[in-house]
Amino acid sequence: MFLVGELGRSMRSDGILGVGGSDQSRATAVVVASRRRWLKRRETWLVVLGVALHAVYMLSIFDIYFKTPIVHGMDPVPPRFSEPPAKRLVLLISDGLRADKFFEPDEEGKYRAPFLRNIIKNQGRWGVSHARPPTESRPGHVAIIAGFYEDPSAVTKGWKANPVEFDSVFNQSRHTFAFGSPDIIPIFCSALPHSTWNSYPHEYEDFATDASFLDEWSFDQFEGLLNRSHADPKLKELLHQDKLVVFLHLLGCDSNGHAHRPYSSIYLNNVKVVDKIAERVYHLLEDYYRDNRTSYIFTADHGMSDKGSHGDGHPTNTDTPLVAWGAGIQYPKPASGNSHSDSVTTFVDKHAHDMPTPYDWGLRRVERVDVNQADIAPLMSTLLGLPCPVNSVGNLPLGYMKLNEAEEVEAVVANTKQILNQLLRKSYIKSSNSLFFKPFKPLVHHSFSLSQIDELISAKSYEAAMKLAVDLRNLSLEGLHYFQTYDWLMLMTVITLGYTGWMIVLALHVLQCYSSLSGDLSKKEHLSVQKKDSGKVYISGCLLMAILSVLNLVEHSPPLYHAYIGMTVFLWTQIFSEYRLIRGLWKYLRERRADYFIKLLFAAAVAVVIVELLVHSFTERKLYTWFFLIAGVVASILLHFSIPWRSGIPVFVCISCWFLSVFTLMPAEIPDNNNLVITSGAIIIVISLAAKWLDTHAEGNKFWQSITFHESRTQMCSMLYCIQIFLVGVSSVMVFLSTKHRTQNQELHSSHQFINWLVAGSSMVLPLFSANGILSRLSSIFLGFAPPFLLLSIGYEAVFYSALAVVLMAWILFENASHHSSKVKESSLSENNTEEHITIGSDERYLQLSDVRIPLVFMVLFNVAFFGTGNFASIASFEISSVYRFITIFSPFLMAALLIFKLFIPFMLVICAFSAITKLVRVPRLGCYFLVILFSDIMTIHFFFLVKNTGSWMEIGNSISHFGIVSAQVVFVLLLFALTNLYTRSIRIKPLSTSPSLKTL
Ligand SMILES: [Zn+2]
Ligand SMILES: [Zn+2]
Repeated sequence: MFLVGELGRSMRSDGILGVGGSDQSRATAVVVASRRRWLKRRETWLVVLGVALHAVYMLSIFDIYFKTPIVHGMDPVPPRFSEPPAKRLVLLISDGLRADKFFEPDEEGKYRAPFLRNIIKNQGRWGVSHARPPTESRPGHVAIIAGFYEDPSAVTKGWKANPVEFDSVFNQSRHTFAFGSPDIIPIFCSALPHSTWNSYPHEYEDFATDASFLDEWSFDQFEGLLNRSHADPKLKELLHQDKLVVFLHLLGCDSNGHAHRPYSSIYLNNVKVVDKIAERVYHLLEDYYRDNRTSYIFTADHGMSDKGSHGDGHPTNTDTPLVAWGAGIQYPKPASGNSHSDSVTTFVDKHAHDMPTPYDWGLRRVERVDVNQADIAPLMSTLLGLPCPVNSVGNLPLGYMKLNEAEEVEAVVANTKQILNQLLRKSYIKSSNSLFFKPFKPLVHHSFSLSQIDELISAKSYEAAMKLAVDLRNLSLEGLHYFQTYDWLMLMTVITLGYTGWMIVLALHVLQCYSSLSGDLSKKEHLSVQKKDSGKVYISGCLLMAILSVLNLVEHSPPLYHAYIGMTVFLWTQIFSEYRLIRGLWKYLRERRADYFIKLLFAAAVAVVIVELLVHSFTERKLYTWFFLIAGVVASILLHFSIPWRSGIPVFVCISCWFLSVFTLMPAEIPDNNNLVITSGAIIIVISLAAKWLDTHAEGNKFWQSITFHESRTQMCSMLYCIQIFLVGVSSVMVFLSTKHRTQNQELHSSHQFINWLVAGSSMVLPLFSANGILSRLSSIFLGFAPPFLLLSIGYEAVFYSALAVVLMAWILFENASHHSSKVKESSLSENNTEEHITIGSDERYLQLSDVRIPLVFMVLFNVAFFGTGNFASIASFEISSVYRFITIFSPFLMAALLIFKLFIPFMLVICAFSAITKLVRVPRLGCYFLVILFSDIMTIHFFFLVKNTGSWMEIGNSISHFGIVSAQVVFVLLLFALTNLYTRSIRIKPLSTSPSLKTL
């Protein structure tokens, strides 16, 4: 700002000294060039700052919501039993087995798991184990075996390695035998010296075949081990010791569920396979030991959604079966009431989908005891007489255990002390670091409660002791939550202030550089005192930052706290250093008349309504339907004023908007419809033919000339066009061929795979060589991305691609019409003083209030590209089967990359159209980008406040992912801008000066 003022003054003084006209224009050119350089530097800096800021603030949710619950340094508390109920324990985890498919009968009325049903009815206990999202394999297994809910950030730290050392039932056992998947077993056993384990190679997990042989593999390994023991006295001795754990991980259901979905015969048959394995394990061990000292637990780590995925909090994912029997486990009881009894009053996520036992399960007469997934860990520990894993937050489910009254109390007391120890440790760590420590008040007198419990036990009043112990346990769990959320208020304030500061910085930048205000302000408000004053502001900002950093250091805060606070202080320092600009702005506003404020208020109101609509659309997709129905009508009425009806454009705009509005009514879970994908190939070709026709026939028309303008039209372009059409046709055929082959042979033909990759890859390069008029380039981009999109499609989203493209065309036509009708205003623009024009390109104009429309429409379209084909807010709703035309081997990273790429394609279209429009109406593209960021940060703040810490975990998870998506949008948009710039960079529009000569063409 200062620099410009200085240069401006020097330029003017040159004028006073009477330098000739040509010199003056040269001086102006110098000023323009240096101002441009300054602007470029400043904008690079703003973009870098924006990306850094969003990355840092997005990380804040890890400090707020995903803080690791693990602390170290607690002593294990073994239960005071005379003899533990069981000598050994068998844990069978059927990966991805959902509760209803396990309990319900098939179409013929036969149950799929006859052996375990027999156990439920005659020998053991059952219930539904409620998993907590993320319902993924690793967190599920950690909850079962270690008793705590791993923070999702641990997942990102790697699946194979164990990112944090944590205690588990296996850890406390004398020896653990574990067999199963290479993704799971090493998490618990690789660092465990007292374990014997094995896992199959990753290649076994090829999901195109029936994966139930993976279950057989685990069983065979264990059977082989027992057989070997007859010849190996050492192994035999080991097997006859107490506190042994046998863990068989059965991956079949998970793999088959992903590949064939849980309604397929392959998945359902796999349920029979795991039941058979449970039966064989049972008989094998009972024959081997013949001492009735083995307990068995059968459960699953998570369920499987109807689409063959898991991860979110849908009941199909969270509800898993639990069956326990053998030593130390109660026999079945008749159900007491209509409903089942819960061993704990509330479930971890307090979810509402805790359903009554369905009638067709045929288990209403047998008492059902539901547990939270982490409760299984203390259950296993107590059965073996081991201390609960030190980080466990599970409540011992007494409903499963056969203990006398004294043992019951001892077991619960051990469980309580273990949880209390965690709390005390957390409290200690916090208090030793904080300057102003606020303890968890309800548990200040915990030692008194503990001695009271001991007294009651020695007085044999077990009931009272039990009640006290349970109360103490609940309070301890509350206390853990208290310390988990200790820093929330401070962090939330800092981050909200940070986002607001960033938005103000952006708004000031746009006003200063891209609006007509910039000329006014830079003329009046440039004095050399500014430098000295802003120096003061910077110094005080630095001081404040230093003080806060020292405070953070003293409190041993996590390193990112420095970043959050530093970023916020920096932004506000930046704002205060511009206080002259703000004052100038204020002055400027005071001089305006009332109608200016009415216009301003109206624009602000429209912006807020649209942004709020976008916020709500994250939970309610149907809003888009309404939006486009109304937008179609409104836009065509507005168009009516600038161009006549008979041009057909208003009708086209209206119909295309209505067409797009259909898609947000369709189910978010895309149903398979191969024919639709194939037909949409034809639709794409028809649309491009129409565009081509328009491109060649409308050149003489004045209205169309800015869209159809070409610098050159060569033979190559029309050949390229034919190739593109051909590729779209090929991809349509390939969709048909490879799907047909796959359904017949359960595999992807390798030649199909090769052609698919080739077609998708090559077609994306072609648009780069197309003619550089707006219409021809955009339709070439549309054709270029069609093959990969079609090949990645499974249903109606293929048609959505065309619908979106048509609406984008309508948007361009709309902007072209309003631009066309405001030509008069624009021609006066070129007469403006060049000095005011120094910030932006010569063929660009300043942003006006009405230009806010462009970023707002862009945001709506960008988000509809997001939500039009499903609810991408939950990662689990990605349709895995859409990558089957490209890969067969299960490789999560490549699959995720392909899915994300598919998600990107509609965005690319929207951004290409946006770039074209900014060129068409000659507004600065970066200015518009900053406005987009400004508006999406209103959404970010809104979502930051919408993030929940109560309610069902599904709501919490969704609210967090919404926040994440909007924060990431800023970076996404920027990234896509850079990517699409490859395609749109060379788009040329009709230069302003050549407009008269064009008439002669
Ligand atoms: Zn799993
Ligand atoms: Zn899975």
